[in-house]
Amino acid sequence: MKAPANRNQDLVVTTQNVQRAHHDEVMTPNYAPMEMIPERGEGALLWDTDGNEYLDFAAGIAVSALGHAHPALCKVLSDQANKFWHVSNLFTNKPAIELAQKLCRHTFAERVFFANSGAEANEAAFKLARRYAHDNYSAEKSEIIAFENGFHGRTFFTVSVGGQAKYSDGFGPKPGDITHLPFNDVEALKSQISDKTCAVVLEPIQGEGGVNPANATFLSEARELCNQHDALLIFDEVQTGVGRTGQLYTYQHFDVTPDILSSAKGLGGGFPIGAMLTTKRIADSLAVGTHGSTFGGNPIGCAVAGTLLDIVSAPEFLSAVESKGTDFVAALSKLNQKFDVFSEVRGLGLLIGCELQGPLKDRAGDVVQACAKHGVLILQAGSNVIRLAPPLILSQQQVEEGVQRLQRAIEGLLVEPQKDGRG
Ligand SMILES: *Cc1c(COP(=O)(O)O)cnc(C)c1O
Repeated sequence: MKAPANRNQDLVVTTQNVQRAHHDEVMTPNYAPMEMIPERGEGALLWDTDGNEYLDFAAGIAVSALGHAHPALCKVLSDQANKFWHVSNLFTNKPAIELAQKLCRHTFAERVFFANSGAEANEAAFKLARRYAHDNYSAEKSEIIAFENGFHGRTFFTVSVGGQAKYSDGFGPKPGDITHLPFNDVEALKSQISDKTCAVVLEPIQGEGGVNPANATFLSEARELCNQHDALLIFDEVQTGVGRTGQLYTYQHFDVTPDILSSAKGLGGGFPIGAMLTTKRIADSLAVGTHGSTFGGNPIGCAVAGTLLDIVSAPEFLSAVESKGTDFVAALSKLNQKFDVFSEVRGLGLLIGCELQGPLKDRAGDVVQACAKHGVLILQAGSNVIRLAPPLILSQQQVEEGVQRLQRAIEGLLVEPQKDGRG
């Protein structure tokens, strides 16, 4: 048989001429990336292939905790790369053991499972909760209670637990026995939870769902109700963890300890790694062979995360995150006094959401685009909230400069005639 012709020969590109348009010719169409293509970064700054500079307050979606090209992370990565990259879970390795020891030392955890992403850390958490109930109570104790607008990843189990049906519809039969309740609604949780519930899962601050903080009463009531019904309390701290809110994990702001916690995003500072943290008693349900991952516990990822955790867990580092967050909110509120475009500025530490109103209502996407044109990269969380999740190492002066660029972007939008006739 004749070898098939390469139909896409004209698409072979060199790094000199890569354009945004090439993306759509070779990638599945499930993303719509920005026009600019990042080329190089340093700290909170990023430069594109045309040499334009940006303050990166998106940080790869709350991932680049120490910014770009952090010297200590570059060093540990290349040191480990020169030793060995991968051995699989047929072997243990020193960076993985040391990282697990650090995570246990700094949190409630006694046992750690490593994965490669937030979704996988949650997949492990949900499977473990089901298995623990099965082993210790009964096979009927399988209900998972989750919350509207929650986000837990894109595997089919995690996206079905997530609280936005549009992300899991259209992919065939969904995993069953998952209940969604309104977030922060103690009464709804009280009336739904029962001895058939194996787990309650929530984000201490819903990230993708709009930067919605859980209130302290809701968290402590959820803890109490889980205790009453022998259900596990799972905190998805994929976005809120690793110093993002000014504590190593956000549960540490509250008087509430989960049974299982998932971590990813900032944990590797941009190197893919996820972790599920739990107690020894619960972990016992993951006996040999019950769960696994080829790349989980990869020595490069664990070495990078270990060094990152040493830096981020320092009390001075965490208190600096908290005070930069306070300054950030103050600067945004001042901007809002002038323009009155935010109905609320909320969040904790360096995870901040601004809910839009007036002429910017439901225009988060337009604000993100305008910001990029003015040299600051930000995120949206739904159509009506802009989200800021800058590298935790950004300077005070970069906070101010970033808010000034945001202000210029908003000024531009307010004078621009609206293309779509809304407002
Ligand atoms: C991003 C995110 C996830 C999914 O993480 P991936 O690494 O994309 O799989 C899960 N939960 C929360 C809260 C997140 O923000």
